[in-house]
Amino acid sequence: MQEHTIALVAHDHKKSELIKWIKTHIEVMKKCKIVATGTTGKLIASETGLEVKRYQSGPLGGDQQIGALIAEGGLTALFFFWDPLNPAPHDPDVKALLRLCSVWNVPVACNSASADLMVTSPLFLSADYHPAKPNYERVD
Ligand code: PGA
Repeated sequence: MQEHTIALVAHDHKKSELIKWIKTHIEVMKKCKIVATGTTGKLIASETGLEVKRYQSGPLGGDQQIGALIAEGGLTALFFFWDPLNPAPHDPDVKALLRLCSVWNVPVACNSASADLMVTSPLFLSADYHPAKPNYERVD
């Protein structure tokens, strides 16, 4: 079976919502390799027992590390519960991460309703589903 890596990130006011969402979809989560930004990842591991590869905290570069994973073609989907009501010091990184999902046609869900639809789609983790890979001319 092909290994699927998903990234889970939540801003502080959204962390409890993400944990609740993960618990609702725990069986799907168990099928994935999970990466997360630092604090989110720590919380996921302690609250759900899932194994999580933790990057730096978001404001310290974690969003950009996930962006690098996308650029390398290593991410199946991003679940990013960002906070629309509070400014973050790393807003440019947030925007950059969402931008890369569009650049590389990576599915991204930014709230629990979208995330519900994404993980319950028969295409999610399906061996028969291969999202179109944009073919940008490489700049060497
Ligand atoms: P955190 O980072 O998981 O370390 O809180 C998330 C973010 O702010 O992007």
